[in-house]
Order: sequence, then structure tokens, then C-alpha cells
Amino acid sequence: MAKRDYYEILGVSRNASIDEIKKAYRKKARQYHPDANPDDPNAEAKFKELSEAYVVLSDSEKRSNYDSYGHAGVDGQGFGGFGGFPGGFGDFGGLGDIFEMFFGSGARRHAGPERGADIRVDLEITLKEAAFGLEREVKVPRVEECSTCGGSGAAAGSRPVACPACGGKGQVQFAQNTPFGRIVQTRTCERCRGVGKLIEKPCPTCRGAGQVRKTRQIKVKVPAGVDSGSRLRVAGEGEAGLRGGPRGDLYVYIHVKPHRVFKRENDDLICEINITFVQAALGDEVEAPTLEGDAKIRIPEGTQSGTIFRLRGKGIPNVSGYGRGDQHVVVKVVTPVRLSEKQKTILREFARLDSERPHSASSGDKGFFKKMKDTFMS
Ligand SMILES: [Zn+2]
Ligand SMILES: [Zn+2]
Repeated sequence: MAKRDYYEILGVSRNASIDEIKKAYRKKARQYHPDANPDDPNAEAKFKELSEAYVVLSDSEKRSNYDSYGHAGVDGQGFGGFGGFPGGFGDFGGLGDIFEMFFGSGARRHAGPERGADIRVDLEITLKEAAFGLEREVKVPRVEECSTCGGSGAAAGSRPVACPACGGKGQVQFAQNTPFGRIVQTRTCERCRGVGKLIEKPCPTCRGAGQVRKTRQIKVKVPAGVDSGSRLRVAGEGEAGLRGGPRGDLYVYIHVKPHRVFKRENDDLICEINITFVQAALGDEVEAPTLEGDAKIRIPEGTQSGTIFRLRGKGIPNVSGYGRGDQHVVVKVVTPVRLSEKQKTILREFARLDSERPHSASSGDKGFFKKMKDTFMS
């Protein structure tokens, strides 16, 4: 029988890259694999032909020989005795790939202890709680070991028995005839799903699963200084493990509610207070809110709207213990409304006097946070 062109078999061009060749091979190999075509007597032949083409074209030296001399150039290097490979797979570079592709890298491992999954819960807290830390119980719905059967899944008075299908090993071996010869493989036992045990009388509480869902209250300690996006790990409070495996972890994701008065900027707090134009002009002592009660601020004479006063150490404690942030108080000068006639008269008089000494224009209204950023974020 005349041999077909390897490029034609793979359906690639003569200058195809190694990646294109691999891709084409994988696609066609799936299509022609004898297991996928149990009714096609030619499937095995087609698969052999394909694999042979791949072994040659995926090896640069063999491919170059093939390109120069055709099939004669690679005879005996390709798949001479394909049916009866004597076990010398190492000679054929491409075969490692083929094996992994079709026979996996071994059967799934024995179903041993498995660590439980991690659980995520979300916790919403106030800014003050974020600043000073708190202890809170969170509700965690999770899988736990069934206390009725102690996790065995078997009803009282009975015990799980060794699976007869695999003899308790959880795996079965089976032989398969492949183009490479007879191959013995190991596969997870279907009867017991790899556990190696069967439950004849299931526990009525968990119906044989050995686990039940329960909602637990877990105490979570939130350290001072956390912020939205902080994630706390509570080790060993996640889902129960399987077959004696350890529990997963609980992760608490922190969300800090926006505060009515304070904005947070890393460990610093920013707030805004209103003062009258008289206080701004003449100076005064005013109170500003902090996380721990009011603090006094001295407003000097001639204070402009937008001036920022710093209260050192009145911000948020650093979550890693590096001190504490500051609080920045931005003063806003409020223009009076609904003036009495007498006030208006005084202001007109004030304006007349004031016009004699012109002063510079204000910096314009840049907006509260922009101004604040310009001032101490640069
Ligand atoms: Zn149970
Ligand atoms: Zn079994």
C-alpha cells in the first residue's frame, strides 16, 4: 500500500510550525482514536498512520529527512514495528506526549484524606469598629462531620465494609489493547468511588455521607486598622475534610460602611467643618468631631475657606502596628443667609471700608477632595 504524505495526513502545510503540527495531531488523534471509534475497523490503522506522521514531523531531524527524501528518508525511524512495540518507547521522541494524552499520567490517585474547602464570609463593620478592632460572631454555614455516625456514614451497629469490586483498595486494574500493545491501567473503582468501603446500612442522619450541613457561630477577632478589602484568615474553621482530612480555613472579608462625617485615606481621616465668615476673619476656637469625641481647633485670624488643620494621631491605627494616622480637618467658610437689615447695613459699611484695600482673588473652588489631595497628597 502506498504511504500517504505525512503533511496530508495531519492536514497541515509543508511549512507548518511545530505548534501547528501538535495542534493538528491532537485534534485528529481524538477523532481517530480506536476507543472513540469502536465500530470502525479502520480506526486503528488510521490512528497508526496519524501517529507515525506525527512522530516524524514533530522531530526536526526526521522532518528534514522526510522533506528531502520522502518516506525513504525516514524508513525505520518512524514506526517500523508499530504493532508490537518491544517497550523501547524512549527511541521515539513524540511518544511521551501521546501517552500522556491518551492514557493520562496514571489513574487518579487513591481517594485518601482530603482537606476541606475554604469558606468566605463577608463582614460589614463601621469605621469606628475598623479603627479600633472588634470581636464578632459570624454565621458560617458549613459541612461538618456527622455526629450520629462519627463521619463513617454507617448506621448505628453497622460498619462500612470493604468494597468487593476493588477489594477495599479503591482502585481497579484493567488491561487494554492499544496500538502500542497491551497496557495495564489503574482506574478509580466505580462501585465505591475510590473510597474502598461500602456502606450497607446508611446512617439516617447524613444518609451515608458522613457529613451534614450546619450553621455555626464563629468568633472572629478583627484587628484595629482594617479596611475594606482586608481579609482575615481563621485557620481550621472551613468545611470539614473528607476521609479524615483536615478542615479548610475560614476567610472573613471586611467591608467598612461609609461614614457620615469621615472619609478615610489610608490611615488618615478627613472631615469638613463649617465656620462663619466672622470666625474665619477674626479667628476663634471651634470643635471638630473625632473618632473619640470632639477636639478643639484654634482658627487663626484671616483663615481661608479650604484651609486644612491637622490633628496629629487622631486617624486610624495602622493595621500592622506602625503608629496611627492623622485627622485632617478642612474648614469651610459659610456665607451667611437671611441677614437682618442691621447686619446688611453693617456689611455695606464693611464693604465700603474694605474697598480701600484690594486683596487677591481666591484660588477658585476646586472641590473639597481635590483641594485636600493637592494639599497633602503631593
Ligand atoms: Zn451520619
Ligand atoms: Zn471499590
